Parts: sequence; structure tokens; C-alpha cells
Amino acid sequence: SVVTRFAPSPTGFLHIGGARTALYNWLYARHTGGKYLVRIEDTDRARSTPEAVQAIFDGLSWLGLLGDEEPVYQSTRLERHAEVARELVEKGQAYYCYCTPDELTAMREEAKAAGKPMRYNGMWRDRNPSEAPAGVDPVVRLKAPLTGETTLVDHVQGEITVQNEQLDDFVLLRGDGTPTYMLSVVVDDHDMGITHVLRGDDHLNNAFRQAALYRAMDWEVPEFGHIPLIHGPDGGKLSKRHGALGVDAYREMGYLPEAMNNYLLRLGWGHGDDEIISSAQAIDWFTLEAVGRSPSRFDLAKLENLNGHYIREADDARLTELVLEGLSGVDEIGRARILKGMNGLKQRAKTMVELTENSAFYAAAVPLTFTEKAQGLLTEDAVAHLTTLTARLEALPDWTEESVEGAVREVAEESGLKLGKLAQPLRAALTGSTVSPGIFEVAAVLERAETLARLKAICG
Ligand code: GLU
Repeated sequence: SVVTRFAPSPTGFLHIGGARTALYNWLYARHTGGKYLVRIEDTDRARSTPEAVQAIFDGLSWLGLLGDEEPVYQSTRLERHAEVARELVEKGQAYYCYCTPDELTAMREEAKAAGKPMRYNGMWRDRNPSEAPAGVDPVVRLKAPLTGETTLVDHVQGEITVQNEQLDDFVLLRGDGTPTYMLSVVVDDHDMGITHVLRGDDHLNNAFRQAALYRAMDWEVPEFGHIPLIHGPDGGKLSKRHGALGVDAYREMGYLPEAMNNYLLRLGWGHGDDEIISSAQAIDWFTLEAVGRSPSRFDLAKLENLNGHYIREADDARLTELVLEGLSGVDEIGRARILKGMNGLKQRAKTMVELTENSAFYAAAVPLTFTEKAQGLLTEDAVAHLTTLTARLEALPDWTEESVEGAVREVAEESGLKLGKLAQPLRAALTGSTVSPGIFEVAAVLERAETLARLKAICG
């Protein structure tokens, strides 16, 4: 059965491209009833700080994309990687190369002069190690196939063939005995039982070298799917100048994880014209064949729209908890009001940041602070009408959205005002702002005492 993996190198944050790769691996495993694993490729000790590793887990956990088993840390497996390199030497599939730095430099310069990429010339491939010069720590190189061709049927890119003469005898173990990425990734994928390697297409070239390594070990070559990278709105490779690259930044900007997942899913994979796709549908529908072959462009407006949709769909209690994380000093009464008003509040917000800002007035203390526009609505005339309204509201037998609306309509009519001419100053008085959920709903949520207190703070 299928085993996929996400194998990030910690760089300080979970890149949105990485998050999409993780999502596709997760979905493919779920779709096929297989397993999804996470491997932390932390062999670069300088970059792989505990914080950088934690940032990966934080991002994955937020998106619900942690592995089905304990993560594998590549750095703990270096001995095993070296063991495989030695095994390959014993089998005659790899060899010690005693090339000196000068010899390598000469090869590099020769290639450069010929306008070709540097290729190791195989000078130690068939040479006896007894001829080794003193003082050189040998590297181990794979005896890559010299002739023929290698064809990979990539689930995304289709069938691709390279001439084997293009693959040089690449290094498996460095002079200091540490394994190279090329070796580590193959040994780990094999030992973890990975059946499908789905990753960014920046690794497509590596796949051919890795296939040679699998074959040298007589291991089954996994299936590959190389996903085109995400590009910026201008078509260039996604970079900082296009905006935030880390998943954590989108969380801070107020995106919900389900919106992020839906967005990343659609960014490079499609199911007809469907834009809003639930997690269950995605599991049901996800196939590698529907992953696009050309890079997709990041589009923040689309993400925002999806986010608005998922905010409207989200449970009020959950949204309230998230909103409260962004507000300080909210007491039980404020919390209860925000929860009660959430259904109205969430209809408009595109991000959680916006929703939090828009919710704050429910928990604010009297006297409120007013936006400039709201202050502008509270003219002497308006305050006079609000004073009349206050008395009417005080005398209402019961307090509901409908009864408040009735009172406001009555007072407007009696004063010869259009409803808006009274409702707008009322909104300013109750919320400090000129935009809010329906003002009768706001009054109902605030309840009588607080509504009157806010009005009296203005009407004196
Ligand atoms: N660690 C590699 C990266 O972050 C991925 C390796 C792989 O998926 O094979 O780019």
C-alpha cells in the first residue's frame, strides 16, 4: 500500500510551497488508504536549529498535516547512510575516489572552457586504491551507468528519458565520511518504505541520479511525482518580494487553516471549476494526474475570498476563541456578547484580524472611542434625536431585535427622519464606528442596560 512522505529541510519556517507539497502527500495517502510520514532533513546542523525544526511542526500542526507516525530525523541516520555506501563499494557499485583538489579544479576549468557543466571524469572508477596518493581523504562515488538511458514515468511530468552519459559518478560519502543529500534521501526513503515521492520539480534532476542509486542497491525505485513550483503573480519564481513565504505569516494575517489548505490544494491541482473543496471532497477526488504541469501563480485575492467563506462557515464558539486571542482584557460579559454576536460579525470579515477588530466594540468599556467618521455622525441634531430614542428604549416592555427596531422606526417617523438618519448615529453611538452588523442585532446582543449606557454616554 501507498506510503508518502514530506521531507523538509528546516529553514526557519514552513514555506507555503512546502505546505502544498505536504498537503498533496497527505491527500494522496488518505485517498489511497495509505500512510503519510514526515522526515526532517536536518543534516545541515547550522540551519537546523531546534527553533527551525519547531517552526516546521507548528506549521504542519496548524494545517493538520503532521505525519501518521513519529517523525524521522535524518541526522540520526548518518551511520546507516555510510553503511550503505560501504556496502555499495563491496558490491562493486561504488568506489573510493582519491581525486585531489587540484585535479577537481582542472576538471572544472576544462568543463567551463568547453561551456559544459562540470562532470567528474571517472578517473578512479577502475583504478586500484593501492595507487592512492598519501594525505587525501577519499570520497565514495557511485559507479553510475555509462551508457543507455534512464526513463522515469513521473506522475505529474509524464515520461522523461535522460541519457545515462549525463549522470556522472556523483559523490555518496564525503571525505570526512558524511553522506551527501543524494545518498541520505534514497536510503531514508527506502528504509521508510516510501512508495511515492511527491515533491517540488526542483528535484526532478535528482530523481534520475537517485534511480541509479536504487538500482545499484537492487532496491525498488519508488514512483515519482514532481510538482511545479509556485510562482508569484508576475510569473517569476515565488520570492519574498511577492509577499510572505512562511505559513506562520498567513496565520498571523488571519487566515484559517482550512482556507489555506483549500487555497494550496487549488494552487496546482484542479477538479473541474470547483473552488471551494472540503477536506472530505479533496480526499475523495485527489489524484496525481490532475496536478497541473505548469506553475501556478499565487493570488492573495483568491485566498482572501476562500477565507471569507470559511470564516462564515466556521463554528461561532471557535471563532470567538480565536478572536479573544487577539483582544486583551475581555471579561466574561464581553466574551458572551462576542459569542452571541458572532453570527452577525462573521458575515463580513475576510480575515481573522478583521473579525477581531470588528468584534472589539462588543467588549469595549463606556465611553467608547469613536472613529472620525462615527464622531462626525454625532451632530447636535443627531444627539437630540438619540435622546428621544433613549427614553423610548428605556420604556420598552421587552428587549428584542424586533422591539428595538420598532422603537427606532417610530422615533424616526415622529421626527420626520429617514430611518438611516437615526440608525446611523445610533450605530456610531453603540459601536464607535460606521460599520457593524445590523444595528438592531447589535442592540439585542448588547442588551438593554449596556445599550442605554452607551447612549447616555453621548446624550448626557
Ligand atoms: N529536503 C528537501 C527539500 O526541502 C526535499 C527532499 C525530497 O523531497 O526528496 O527541498
